[in-house]
Amino acid sequence: MNLKEFQEILLARKAEIEKILYSISQDISEISSCDIKEDGDFAVASMDTSREFNVYIKLKEELKEIEDALEKIKRGDYGICEMCDDYINEERLKIKPFAKYCIKCRTIIEKEQR
Ligand SMILES: [Zn+2]
Repeated sequence: MNLKEFQEILLARKAEIEKILYSISQDISEISSCDIKEDGDFAVASMDTSREFNVYIKLKEELKEIEDALEKIKRGDYGICEMCDDYINEERLKIKPFAKYCIKCRTIIEKEQR
């Protein structure tokens, strides 16, 4: 596995997310300077903002996963499944470079969540 390649993908994605997060947070802070003490008002205030807010939360989560993955590259256990310690398929990592589990474990987790 070419770690450097994955590291570059992760860093590029990280930079992209940080840029989007920044612009969204600018938008949100503009709105929140009004009154968002009541959740209901905030939701009604602007559909766009609540949609943006959801994107914001999702990206925050992704950013954390990317940071975890970058840590793993540093530690040297990148690409290893957190459940079974098996190697994660490289093709899978190319699609989702911050994957924590191999396909087998991922399937088990998804079944349990249902
Ligand atoms: Zn596994």
